Amino acid sequence: MKKKLFSILTVFVITANVCFSQTGNWYKGDLHSHSTYSDGDSPVSSIIANAESKGFNFYVITDHDNTYTPYVGNPITWSDTAYHSNNMILLYGMEWTTDIGHAGIWNSAPFPYDSIFAANTAKQPAKAASIVKSQGGLFSINHPLNGALLWDVGYDFEFPSIEILNGPISYLLSNNNSVITTVWEPLLMSGKRITGVGGSDMHKLSYWLPSVYPNLGSPSTWVYSAEPNGEGIIDGIRNGHVCISNSPTDPRCEFFADIHGNNTFNYMMGDAIADTNSAVTFRVNLVGSGSNLSVKVIKNGIPLFSQPLAISSSNPTIEFTDTPYQRAFYRIELLSGSSSISWTNPIYCGYQTETIAAVASNDIANQISIYPNPTQNLVNVQNNTHETISINLINVCGQTLKSVTSSDELITIGMETLSKGIYFIKINNYKTFKIIKQ
Ligand SMILES: [Zn+2]
Repeated sequence: MKKKLFSILTVFVITANVCFSQTGNWYKGDLHSHSTYSDGDSPVSSIIANAESKGFNFYVITDHDNTYTPYVGNPITWSDTAYHSNNMILLYGMEWTTDIGHAGIWNSAPFPYDSIFAANTAKQPAKAASIVKSQGGLFSINHPLNGALLWDVGYDFEFPSIEILNGPISYLLSNNNSVITTVWEPLLMSGKRITGVGGSDMHKLSYWLPSVYPNLGSPSTWVYSAEPNGEGIIDGIRNGHVCISNSPTDPRCEFFADIHGNNTFNYMMGDAIADTNSAVTFRVNLVGSGSNLSVKVIKNGIPLFSQPLAISSSNPTIEFTDTPYQRAFYRIELLSGSSSISWTNPIYCGYQTETIAAVASNDIANQISIYPNPTQNLVNVQNNTHETISINLINVCGQTLKSVTSSDELITIGMETLSKGIYFIKINNYKTFKIIKQ
C-alpha cells in the first residue's frame, strides 16, 4: 500500500493568545544600506535620522569594503561620531564586496577588518566567513542572483545567513521569490539551517526609481531577541528567529509549534524539532493588519494546502497539524491578494537540533558588569561567572587595544593612556559594553 504522507491534516482558526513561553521581543530594522563612505548618496547623520523615522529598533550601515582610496586598514563608517542613536540598537557592519559576490557582515561591536579584507582580495569567502564567525559576527550572502553582482562561488562552506529579499531586486522584479525558491529552499532541502533575511540595499536616501523603490526598510527584517542589545539581535539572526515584511508598516506573521498537543508552543521560526514521526501543531499569528490577507503554508518548498488560508485582524491566528514523516521544513508567506508581503523563517523537523550556539551564553554574559562608566582612568570588570573569561578592549575602528584572560572576580583594565572617546569591552567575543572615556 502506498504510504500516506499527510495522514491527518486539520486546520482551525482560534482566537486564544499565543502561549509561547520565552521572554523577549521583536525588533524591526534594515540589514543592508550604504552611506557616502562607499557609494551611497547621503551622510551617516541623515541616514540614521531616516532610519529612526521608520521606527526601526535596530539598524546597521553596511558600506562596501572596497571603496577606500587608499584602503585605510579599518572601516570608517563606524568611527563617524554621527553613527550613534538613542532610539535604535546599532550593529557594526560592512559589505564584503568582490567580483565573485557580496556578503553582509554584522557584529555587535566594531571588529578588526584587516584579515577579512585580506580574504576579500584573495577571493576566499569560506575564510572570510570563518574569521567573522570567530569574531562572534555573522556572514550573510547578499543578492545571490543579482546579475553582475551574482554570488558565483557556490554555497559549499559554512555561513549562517542569506539575503532572500533585496530591495532593488524585489521591487524591480515585482517581489519575485526567485532567491527563495532557487537558492534558499534547495539549501534547506540539503539539510542546512540558514537564516533568510531581507535588506533594502539603500544607496539613495530620498529616491531610487521613485514610486518603485521606497528605500530604507523595504524590506524590513524583524528579529526576535531575548535581550535589547546587539548581541541579542545577532543571536536572533543566527538562530533564525527572523521574519521579513515588505515595508516597515506591512503586517507580518509569527510562527510557532507545539509538539505535545498540549497547547504549549515552545518552538518558533528558526527552531528545530528532533522527531519527525509525531504530529506537530503549528500556529501562525498575524501581527498588524491589511486587506485581503491570507497565509500560504510551505512544506519543503511545496504549498501544503491547495488554497492559502484566510487570516484577518479579527481572527489573527490559524492553527494546523501535520506529521513530517521525514526531514522537513515549514515556512509561512503572508499574502495580500496574490502578492506575498511577509515571509517567516522555517520551523525545521528532523534537522540538527542544537541551538546554533553563540560564543558565550547569555547566562554567562548576564553575570558580568562593568564600572565606572563613563570613566577617566580605568574600567573594572566584575566577573561573577566563576569561569575564565576573555576581555578585549576595542576602539571604534575595531582594533583590539588590550586583551586580558582571567577568572578573577574583579579585573581592572587601565585606560589612562587612551584619548577621550568611545571604546568597547567585549567579553568572550560576545557580550559587548560600550564605555565612554572622559
Ligand atoms: Zn551588494
